[in-house]
Amino acid sequence: IIDIKNLSKSFGSHEVLKDINFSVKKGEVVTVIGSSGSGKSTLLRCLNLLETPDGGEVNYDGKNILTHMENVNDYRTKLGMVFQQFNLFNNCNVLDNCILGQMKVLKRSKDEAKKIAEEYLQVVGMSQYINARPAQLSGGQKQRVAIARALSMKPEALLFDEPTSALDPEMVGDVLQVMKKLAKDGSTMIIVTHEMEFAREVSDRIVLMDKGIIVEDGTPDEVFNHPKHERTKAFLKRAL
Ligand code: ATP
Ligand code: MG
Repeated sequence: IIDIKNLSKSFGSHEVLKDINFSVKKGEVVTVIGSSGSGKSTLLRCLNLLETPDGGEVNYDGKNILTHMENVNDYRTKLGMVFQQFNLFNNCNVLDNCILGQMKVLKRSKDEAKKIAEEYLQVVGMSQYINARPAQLSGGQKQRVAIARALSMKPEALLFDEPTSALDPEMVGDVLQVMKKLAKDGSTMIIVTHEMEFAREVSDRIVLMDKGIIVEDGTPDEVFNHPKHERTKAFLKRAL
């Protein structure tokens, strides 16, 4: 579904992504790990064109979207994004957070959008908070609403950038459990996380980034138990 070739991105003279090759198949769960500053968020942001890559290809369903820029909004609706800081609309209640994008971007009717939102709020266990404002929710609850909002757009793939990093420890489990459920149900997911146990359990593949390059790409068993590179071993020693 996604196939990145020779992707590069610099900020000034700082080369943040160097010749990245990376692909994700439909239904696959790929977790990106690596130390701070290694380029994980930049990779996700290049994927949904929040950043413009300097070189290379981002192929989606076999089409290089960098040369098909006219469809960029269409393209973005195919990818649901969940951020560390939730990015909810704080002046809207939970339901409105989950229907506004559907109505504005996808032109769904309010009734239809509401029906879909309710369905996904149920999936994330937030049905009873439908009229609450984000300020009344815990971090874990906000993040589950953010996931329901992303799902309500019925994206073809979900991108998560450290969805549990801003949460109190007791909230992390609830969010990971929702993500596990989605993974089990066959969603295509790309997840940046520092939760190694979770990554090992849900991922079809683990990708380790270090200083802008992919140093390891394999199954959880290959990467965690039989790493090929010294840099992977060093990272795992610090992270596990
Ligand atoms: P973390 O685990 O801390 O989130 P990361 O792997 O997600 O790290 P990135 O956010 O992709 O790392 O950043 C990679 C490098 O690019 C960092 O050195 C960062 O300072 C730099 N960088 C990222 N965004 C910008 C920007 N908009 N302008 C300048 N430099 C940037
Ligand atoms: Mg990041």
